[in-house]
Amino acid sequence: MIQPPAPEPPTPQPPALHALKIDLHTHSHYSDGVLSPTALVERAAAAGVNILALTDHDSTAGLAEASRQADSLGLKLVPGVEISAAWRAQSIHVLGLWIDPCAVPLERALATQAQRRHQRMRNICSRLSEMGLPGESLLATVQAHPGLPTRSHLADAMVAMNLARSKADVFKNFLGKGRAAHLAADWPALDEVIGWILSSGGVASLAHPARYLLSAGARRQLIADFAAAGGTSLEVVTGGNAPQHIETCSALAVKFGLMGSVGSDFHDPQLSWNPLGRSLKLPDCITPVWRGYVSE
Ligand code: AMP
Ligand code: MN
Ligand code: MN
Ligand code: MN
Repeated sequence: MIQPPAPEPPTPQPPALHALKIDLHTHSHYSDGVLSPTALVERAAAAGVNILALTDHDSTAGLAEASRQADSLGLKLVPGVEISAAWRAQSIHVLGLWIDPCAVPLERALATQAQRRHQRMRNICSRLSEMGLPGESLLATVQAHPGLPTRSHLADAMVAMNLARSKADVFKNFLGKGRAAHLAADWPALDEVIGWILSSGGVASLAHPARYLLSAGARRQLIADFAAAGGTSLEVVTGGNAPQHIETCSALAVKFGLMGSVGSDFHDPQLSWNPLGRSLKLPDCITPVWRGYVSE
């Protein structure tokens, strides 16, 4: 008997835009994240993330590796970076998304950021030595790490040497603002950093706007200055954000005519407050920064 032809298997359809899981803020071990870019992308894919930005602090060194792994797993990798900037003596983080990491002005600028980070780490460790702590071996431990040095690495090294009970204690007692071993970094001005991102073809999104210790008026002025300098997005939803932060940030985005981004700020699988793959839903009143980059 002639068998009827087997029905064609359904062609897999890409998920609808609103059903995509998007995370535009994560770290690898090229800054203070724990995972390699390969392991990060694998973990994101396993958690159902469709579109992922790797945004290491002041470094694009992990992007090529992340992009290779994303290609092999069918996940879209957004080339990104989280750049440290200064605004009124406050450290501010600006996400550069859809940047071209090979753009020469950005490459040069990130090389100066790396020098600043190395110099600041040497200065902090000298200060720790003056305080009677083992600054030189702490510096050696931080420098043995593959990525750019951050205070997060130093805090880990101090906990490992039993100089503090936890990372939070290190920031509270030594490295946090106003503490004995806190050294302000000479980060470039906010508008200069935004200029680097724009010149590399990227979009600038102000990272975790609710996390800066600013009055409501100062926060509004920060965002006004950010928008005036060419920033076009706020990170409205970020890992660990309370619902009132999302509301505050949405209202600010609407007030200043900015789009919105979402991101976990994932660093470490051991930290439970910002896991990869948690739904990060942008409020309906906000235009997604990925509109125009991501097709349905
Ligand atoms: P840096 O960019 O060198 O100033 O280091 C800042 C990094 O340290 C941040 O990106 C966080 O990952 C981490 N960090 C800052 N404050 C704390 C804290 N209180 N506890 C744990 N990690 C922190
Ligand atoms: Mn960090
Ligand atoms: Mn940040
Ligand atoms: Mn971050």
